[in-house]
Amino acid sequence: MSLIRRIDLRDADRASVDYRASVPRAEFDVEAATHQVQPIIDAVRARGVEAITEFSARFDGVETKDITVPREAVRAALDELDPGVRAALEESIRRLRMTSEAELEHDVTSEVAPGATVTHRKVAIDRVGLYVPGGLAPLVSSVVMNVVPAQVAGVRSIALASPPQESNGGLPEPAILAACALLGIDEVYAVGGAQAIAMFAYGAGPCEPVNLVTGPGNIYVAAAKRLLRGVVGIDSEAGPTEIAILADDSADPAYVAADMVSQAEHDPMAASVLVTDSLALADAVEAELDKQVHATRHTERILTALSGRQSAIVLVGDMDQGVAVVDAYAAEHLEIQTRDSARHAARVRNAGAIFVGPWSPVSLGDYCAGSNHVLPTAGCACHSSGLSVRAFTKSVHVIDYSREALAEVADHVVALSGAEDLPGHGQAVSVRFDAEPTQP
Ligand code: NAD
Repeated sequence: MSLIRRIDLRDADRASVDYRASVPRAEFDVEAATHQVQPIIDAVRARGVEAITEFSARFDGVETKDITVPREAVRAALDELDPGVRAALEESIRRLRMTSEAELEHDVTSEVAPGATVTHRKVAIDRVGLYVPGGLAPLVSSVVMNVVPAQVAGVRSIALASPPQESNGGLPEPAILAACALLGIDEVYAVGGAQAIAMFAYGAGPCEPVNLVTGPGNIYVAAAKRLLRGVVGIDSEAGPTEIAILADDSADPAYVAADMVSQAEHDPMAASVLVTDSLALADAVEAELDKQVHATRHTERILTALSGRQSAIVLVGDMDQGVAVVDAYAAEHLEIQTRDSARHAARVRNAGAIFVGPWSPVSLGDYCAGSNHVLPTAGCACHSSGLSVRAFTKSVHVIDYSREALAEVADHVVALSGAEDLPGHGQAVSVRFDAEPTQP
């Protein structure tokens, strides 16, 4: 039996085919999960820490009365951190900081007429809650991906939550705590899943409410974010990971298979999709997958992900059709391994992140490319972007007109107020010119 299914689009009618529907995604029904998650949110809102600790016992197997991670435990974790992991985290932080600083937006002032200016003033969000997953894998790199852009944006108050681990005495994974210490984050909560998102939104015990929640997570995290959007700001729904690879016969099947495995090991719901115009490559990748999957650690999880409806090898007639398929699919991660990778990459508009050529694997981006790994999934890349400093800033419009500048546009304000049947709007301008202004 085949390890991964094939979808053959070579004979599809290109004028009418719906490529997005042709490459199905995981059964990740966030809407259905909201029914399980709403009672969790209600309980945290009503009973705070007491409810959170009940959910920690039920879902994480951890009995505790306290959700705050002591500062000493955060600092001690850094002392215990493996030097190789510390060096890798430092390099990851350095690169992401560099790209985040370059991307930071500055105030923009436009003089729309003499004496009339509009400024878009960039302001950091006051307080944010960052979620770092810790169910299937301790995603220490997600600490970096959340914290660095928040700090570069200038966020003043940062809280971070990650699931409590039985193996660490009810605290989050030691490496996650160490990464917090490295970045100077000391407000850390041992809380996972939907209860963490509700804690951030409403506040609970020692955790004051935040203005914005960011970070990836599983279906319960995604459902809580969907339900709480509005109560609190939400970055995007960054659910189970996806990789799509557009490759031709110049690609190395061992690299392609390794990259598909690397994302499948995240989650049984992860998607690995190869889009190719080469039957020979498709066969070689399948043989490689068979070899590599059985030689790695999370074989069962990977096999579930690869054999799920969300993973496939998609055969296309040529690279034009391949580009159209990956663009419609709008993958979280898209790799291009073709003879002309940069040219094909430039034609794609919809993807969370694009990895160009054989030396830019997704796992580089997961850890230390300098890009962010919190990226939109489930096709949301057609309207959303990955996490960045922009998520942590907002702009305040500052309008500053002189008397003369207002006078110049007064008739237009009055005309439009009449068109909207809101005469008070026009009057608020006219009143300023009905009589000469009183001199102070
Ligand atoms: P997680 O921290 O998101 O979820 C674990 C929590 O889920 C637990 O603490 C528990 O509270 C809750 N939970 C478990 N079972 C539950 C149940 N039956 N009902 C209610 N709550 C329950 O960790 P995870 O499960 O490993 O998921 C991490 C996800 O994040 C993966 O799917 C991974 O692919 C994804 N991810 C996405 C991105 C991205 O940018 N899109 C980046 C990194 C990771």
